Amino acid sequence: MKKLSKKVIYVLISAILLAVPAFAWDDVGHKITGYIAWQRMSPQARENVIRILRTAPEDSTLGIYYQPYGVESDDVRKLEYFMLVATWADIVRDFGAESGFRNEVRQRKYHRSNWHYDDIFWKQVDGKVELLTGFPEGGQGVPKLKEFDAVLRNPSSRSSEKAIAIAWLMHIGGDLHQPLHTSGRVTDKEPKGDQGGNLFQLTPEGTPRAQQVNLHWFWDSIVNRNVSIKPGMCERDYLESVAKKMIKANPFSSLQAGLKLGQYDEWQKESFAYDNTVVFSPDLKRNQMPSKQYTKKAFKLAERQLAMAGYRLGETLNAIFNVSPTAK
Ligand SMILES: [Zn+2]
Repeated sequence: MKKLSKKVIYVLISAILLAVPAFAWDDVGHKITGYIAWQRMSPQARENVIRILRTAPEDSTLGIYYQPYGVESDDVRKLEYFMLVATWADIVRDFGAESGFRNEVRQRKYHRSNWHYDDIFWKQVDGKVELLTGFPEGGQGVPKLKEFDAVLRNPSSRSSEKAIAIAWLMHIGGDLHQPLHTSGRVTDKEPKGDQGGNLFQLTPEGTPRAQQVNLHWFWDSIVNRNVSIKPGMCERDYLESVAKKMIKANPFSSLQAGLKLGQYDEWQKESFAYDNTVVFSPDLKRNQMPSKQYTKKAFKLAERQLAMAGYRLGETLNAIFNVSPTAK
């Protein structure tokens, strides 16, 4: 084998490192939603939300991510903490991957896989939606949003209970704006539903399991894969630049009339409507990577959905927490 020059080795290592995303979509999508929500929130609502989050039960670990001291300003620390809170529901899911009895107990206590989605079962007939009934429940996203909303509005709820409710509201609210988190598409191949596109493979048949990718993955990772991080850019700057572009493309004034605050069923239905039009559009083919044109449309929708989720969640928290703590 030829000896590789230092430069070639450096290029190869960089290519390998760049191929592995530094952080997953879950993080990117949810943190962007958190960022956009924060831009909508009044100083009072921000203060109240941060104060409550820090009273979270210790074993939830929700309170420990706030770094009270550091080089950054107080405002930046609060924003970063709030963005991370939107990913907490995934953090507790991953507790199980860490060894140790304590982690297992924590995961069992806080992780709920079927709260991240709420699938409507349907069939595509001549390009139209046919709703189906008689399927087992397709997730608890909508009822849980309603439940956590009620916890936050109830004056007798404990602060620690409200902290968990804020984290779930932020997370599920974001998830349901990913159209495949509301969809159980039934086909001859998937008579029990396609599990939000998880069964819809984009790689050719016979691809080894570890290299398979599916439609759900495609949508979950769309921001991450289409906006690359510039060398030397830190995560916060990356997320901020992506979020700002989304806000610019979908300003609050353009979506304000359709916020439908508190109408969580409507949020789900609106997201679901994109499954027939944009997600399962006629040019999408099984076992093939979506075309450039498809990807462009999908990215545009993802931008709209993340902006909308941020606006809705920010305004929801404003409606509940824009009161001075002493006035309660
Ligand atoms: Zn989730």
